[in-house]
Amino acid sequence: ESLINRIAAGEIIHRPASALKELLENCLDAGATSIRVTVKDGGMKLLQIQDNGCGIRRADLPILAERFTTSKLSTFSDLSRITTYGFRGEALASMSHVARLSVVTKTKLETCAWKAHYLDGLLVEGKPGQTAEPKPCAGNDGTTIIIEDLFYNTPTRLSALRSASEEYSRILDVITKYAVHNPKVSFVCKKVSSPSPDLSTPSSSEVPQAIRLLYGHSIAKNLLHAKFGSKSKPDEEDGDKEEQLEPGSADRELWSAEAHFTNANYQSKKTVFLLFINQRLVESARIKRALEAVYSGVLPKGASPFIYLSLQINPRDVDVNVHPTKKEVHFLNEEGITDQISDTLQRSLASQSQ
Ligand code: ADP
Ligand code: MG
Repeated sequence: ESLINRIAAGEIIHRPASALKELLENCLDAGATSIRVTVKDGGMKLLQIQDNGCGIRRADLPILAERFTTSKLSTFSDLSRITTYGFRGEALASMSHVARLSVVTKTKLETCAWKAHYLDGLLVEGKPGQTAEPKPCAGNDGTTIIIEDLFYNTPTRLSALRSASEEYSRILDVITKYAVHNPKVSFVCKKVSSPSPDLSTPSSSEVPQAIRLLYGHSIAKNLLHAKFGSKSKPDEEDGDKEEQLEPGSADRELWSAEAHFTNANYQSKKTVFLLFINQRLVESARIKRALEAVYSGVLPKGASPFIYLSLQINPRDVDVNVHPTKKEVHFLNEEGITDQISDTLQRSLASQSQ
């Protein structure tokens, strides 16, 4: 059974960067404004992530690493959040099957922090002879998750990893993208052995400033901006369907988008495409292809753009059957929305070049 659990966990956690993505999302879900990541050996030896979010209640710690735990947590009163954002309570559980997982956490209401260790979904004792329960310790408000010896018991996963430096650059890439999307949150990432961080962003910035800091001036000085979306009209056929869901707000937006993208003066070798749907970093080959086609009309052959796109789609329209950890996402009216995004960028690029 534990082998099956490990294989299942390996489907969710592919490499240090995919573990980190899950952990980052948890920090952001917890309302953190400061997130500090510490890495050893490309995250294979140690991946530690400290936030100043809401913390986890002591009472929730015993079941924290059980699968599908989310709805059982006392902090989790809002069940609709589970279906809306695809919360499934699988990330920490998976990590406990393929690594040594420790948690130090403190809520505002608690007088001290609590530390707990997990193995194969279960709370385990920190030292032999001690009973398996959280131990009080010193700590600030917020949560620190410590992942040690990732894939120590899954040799096939371990052997599929690249060098420590390559895994580390994937970690930096994930943090960089979340830092662009969350400019009000301060992110720091460093290697254990190094005194200075490799990535550090201020809190309370804005997306273009974050792009300048993280992707450089040549991108930042050539950025265009567009904010657009679609509103449901009261006279539309499915108008009454809308009303059922949110009475009295027939003109609320069905979807909205915000984009920062380079103009025709910027040319890169490879497309950099940051796509967030409902605050989650995802991939969409369809949208990427469509936008590359738009740019092929304004850029010379072989030149590529930088595009940051944040989409808000009614969660009931996002395919909840697709596993949330699958990065490739699908949603209702994907074709129509993609067309409108392409049109908007095309018009914006065209008016800039006049
Ligand atoms: P999910 O995010 O799908 O609920 P996870 O396994 O990622 O599942 O996390 C399980 C639960 O643990 C979360 O729902 C949350 O209640 C709690 N949790 C995890 N990380 C943090 C954190 N950094 N701060 C506060 N709570 C957290
Ligand atoms: Mg999560």
